[in-house]
Amino acid sequence: MSNLSYVNENTDAWQTYLAQIDRVAPYLGDLKNYIDTLKRPKRALIVDVPIVMDDGSIQHFEGYRVQHNLSRGPGKGGIRYHPDVDLNEVMALSAWMTIKTAVLNLPFGGAKGGVRVDPRKLSTRELERLTRRFTTEISPVIGPQQDIPAPDVGTNPNIMGWMMDTYSTQHGHTVTGVVTGKPVHLGGSLGRVRATGRGVFVTGLQAAKKIGLSIENSKVAVQGFGNVGNEAAYLFSQAGAKVVAVQDHTGSIFNADGFDVKALQNYVEQHHGVAGFENSQKIDKEAFWDVEMDIFIPAALEGQITVERAERLSAKMVLEGANGPTYPSADDALLRRGVTVVPDVICNAGGVTVSYFEWVQDMASYFWSEDEINERLDKLMIQAIEDVWKTSEEKSCSLRTAAYILACERILKARKERGIFPG
Ligand code: NAD
Repeated sequence: MSNLSYVNENTDAWQTYLAQIDRVAPYLGDLKNYIDTLKRPKRALIVDVPIVMDDGSIQHFEGYRVQHNLSRGPGKGGIRYHPDVDLNEVMALSAWMTIKTAVLNLPFGGAKGGVRVDPRKLSTRELERLTRRFTTEISPVIGPQQDIPAPDVGTNPNIMGWMMDTYSTQHGHTVTGVVTGKPVHLGGSLGRVRATGRGVFVTGLQAAKKIGLSIENSKVAVQGFGNVGNEAAYLFSQAGAKVVAVQDHTGSIFNADGFDVKALQNYVEQHHGVAGFENSQKIDKEAFWDVEMDIFIPAALEGQITVERAERLSAKMVLEGANGPTYPSADDALLRRGVTVVPDVICNAGGVTVSYFEWVQDMASYFWSEDEINERLDKLMIQAIEDVWKTSEEKSCSLRTAAYILACERILKARKERGIFPG
């Protein structure tokens, strides 16, 4: 059984996505006739990934690549290595990518992949073998014009480098544009590693201004201190906020005066988790949700904010760094309680936006400075949140439904104009 509390809420990630789509349908006018196209993935590939372990034994892992929708361009979405990965989860994550690329108006569709594996239990050599074999198995459906993977939970720039090398070896020439999130010296983009956390911060600042919340001395709690959570926490602390509580897979820590986030980053790099950090009070996993806070940043996994937790949360604003952290029923509870939720499909879109920049730079073989990238990122993210905010006011709906309205209109217009083959 998964540890994501799906069972408690009697729903799963794909059902969460379907409920979100059902909510947007009444706003779509005639385009509603095409909405079924979003209720199923275009293509789903399940692969067997056998590898020789260091001890000579053979182990089989199950991997996936799902292309949810390609109406607006090639598939785009990360690769997750986690023991809970299954087809249902990858389908939902691929669908959220379709919505996300459309909210940001990037010329991509939505895709996602993953392998059911605990990468922490593999040696570096085993991880490389797994990655190279998985890449080979999904290579018929990926490519710079087809579908472009990127990092997600449990994967990183090194793994993207192996994917790029494997695909290139099979094609007889270097194909940098096949994956994004690569190391910078392999055609990666400056600013990519920190882009998602930066996007959480930039959209959070805009939302805070709208609701009159001052960042200075505000209390922030973060769940997940990986790629997304640690950068978002750092940027908020730099802006004068106090990061008072952090939870990750090793435990939950609290400090009413706020952590030294830089020191926590260094600690996590060495100890692979927040547990045991100096000047912190260890708190219970569930007590984390009762901490007094102004801003909550879920940046771990989906299915974390249940109705029960939504009712207890003291935050005025939730910034969804993670994909799908809030159940639809919890969304309703937060809306009723007047909590502003900046939804995942815009809040964590900084990563895919800089991935888009990386892909463009690879295509042009011409690379931009980090300042240029951050400036372009901030501009696109601010434009997107302004558009979403305006739509939510016009339609008197949540920011999530507003984001889905904008995205679905773009996707379904593209579908309509392309027509249904063979007609
Ligand atoms: P990561 O692997 O770098 O970090 C994941 C973090 O979550 C770690 O701190 C881990 O300890 C924590 N975690 C795992 N299980 C947990 C649990 N049961 N309870 C509490 N904490 C737990 O992953 P990431 O790249 O930071 O991704 C985090 C989330 O952000 C995911 O939902 C991912 O899909 C989403 N996201 C990531 C990117 C990106 O660019 N990396 C982009 C968009 C969205």
